[in-house]
Amino acid sequence: MAKFNMSLQKTRIPEQDPLERKANFKEVSLGYSEEEAINEAKRCIQCKTPACVGGCPVNVHIPQFIGKVAEGNFAEAYEILAEQNSLPAVCGRVCPQEKQCESKCVRAMKGDPVGIGRLERFVADWFIENGKVTREKAVSNNIKVAVAGAGPAGLACAGELTKYGYDVTIFEALHTAGGVLMYGIPEFRLPKEIVKKEIENVMEQGVKIEKNVIIGRSVTVDELMEEGYKSVFIGSGAGLPNFMGIEGENLNGVYSANEFLTRVNLMKAYDEKSPTPVSVGEKIAVIGGGNVAMDAARTAVRLGAKEVYIVYRRGEEELPARLEEVHHAKEEGVIFKLLSNPVGIKEDKGWVSKLECIEMELSEPDESGRRRPVPIEGSSFLLDVDRVVIAIGQSPNPLIRQTTDGLETHKWGGIIVEENTMETTKESVYAGGDVVTGAATVILAMGAGKKAAISIHEKLSKSRV
Ligand code: FAD
Ligand code: SF4
Repeated sequence: MAKFNMSLQKTRIPEQDPLERKANFKEVSLGYSEEEAINEAKRCIQCKTPACVGGCPVNVHIPQFIGKVAEGNFAEAYEILAEQNSLPAVCGRVCPQEKQCESKCVRAMKGDPVGIGRLERFVADWFIENGKVTREKAVSNNIKVAVAGAGPAGLACAGELTKYGYDVTIFEALHTAGGVLMYGIPEFRLPKEIVKKEIENVMEQGVKIEKNVIIGRSVTVDELMEEGYKSVFIGSGAGLPNFMGIEGENLNGVYSANEFLTRVNLMKAYDEKSPTPVSVGEKIAVIGGGNVAMDAARTAVRLGAKEVYIVYRRGEEELPARLEEVHHAKEEGVIFKLLSNPVGIKEDKGWVSKLECIEMELSEPDESGRRRPVPIEGSSFLLDVDRVVIAIGQSPNPLIRQTTDGLETHKWGGIIVEENTMETTKESVYAGGDVVTGAATVILAMGAGKKAAISIHEKLSKSRV
């Protein structure tokens, strides 16, 4: 039998049929069976210098875990995976692998890269079904560290700190842990039961959590330090929606993507009996081209909107969303109005009646490296819609900045950190994730949380010598 599977294509992953899934919130991708996973794992040629690892922000030992999958040893594959990544079932589902590990895979030189994300998901799901946490708890050093926010950054930081024996408490503003994983990314992409299980694994290592505590309101960072916490990590994300500043944004029928998705994910607006329903009207335009926009558009499809548009000012190549999400959105009938920039929202009796847009063309690349969109004179047009969702980005909430002495931020609100340590301008206070970078990705937030934990440990262990 050949050692490697030299097929040029990834092993197909079963998915719900587009026509069926348009009407439900169940997960689209159904995941590999054991046989499919082994088949795909055999496509990895076990490079001596694996380029894929350099593309992973948390340096998962990719060929090693995939090698174990190829042998059918899923328990060991999980051990290897979980050493570097405490939320693998989440990352296997939502990481933009095509821009990270898979973009570096040598198999992509001819054919598809190895399906690293799909295998990560398979192993993590297998563990949730069959595995047991075996890692022993570290001996407590009785040093208290506080973490603000239970999103990926806060969870990764807290999980890492417990490995060194710290007494870690996460303070979370909401009644549930997970951050965007719970209230932003929809069920059909990331089932909430999976998120809860992975968070339980982190908590089992001894992390404590106090929910419904808003840092900056219930208690401040300075008060936490006075209470004996030796260090504070801020992982409060970027939950404040940005708006375009165009006419009509305050009309009835205009939502921020944040509100729209939170109502559906956390307040179960898809359930008719929910006390917080969300109305999608007949025709809805989602402004933006990132994952958030795709999630809002695909949610609107599932809630019964007849026509759903993505309105984006650049072209297809520039869409920042994961390729898979764009592909799935198209399969589900979302209509892409590319190179179109909204300039105003028209009203009828206080409600949205039309979205006015102007056609764009792309010129030279701007500072982000993407070609800059410029309006084409005289090309404005009206899109007939009765709801609009604005998904053009989020910024950090200013509350913690406003209530913490000595914590400096950029003009746009992001907390300033020293890049190597993640320490802020206030001593012993660290930050990471979207609150530092602005809206980014789960794995980058986790990488930052982990890096901060290592710096916290280095500093606190020095101060004990
Ligand atoms: P968050 O996940 O925002 O968590 C912050 C936590 O802090 C929250 O629980 C919040 O309630 C809490 N908090 C805030 N303020 C306070 C306070 N004052 N006191 C206490 N707690 C506080 N990334 C991907 O990699 N792939 C995707 O497919 C993807 N899709 C996305 C889809 C949507 C709809 C959204 C919104 C984002 C998506 N992202 C995706 C981005 C990704 O989710 C974020 O980059 C990531 O969650 C950032 O993690 P974080 O821990 O920094 O912040
Ligand atoms: Fe396997 Fe691709 Fe990584 Fe090589 S680069 S070790 S083939 S996943």
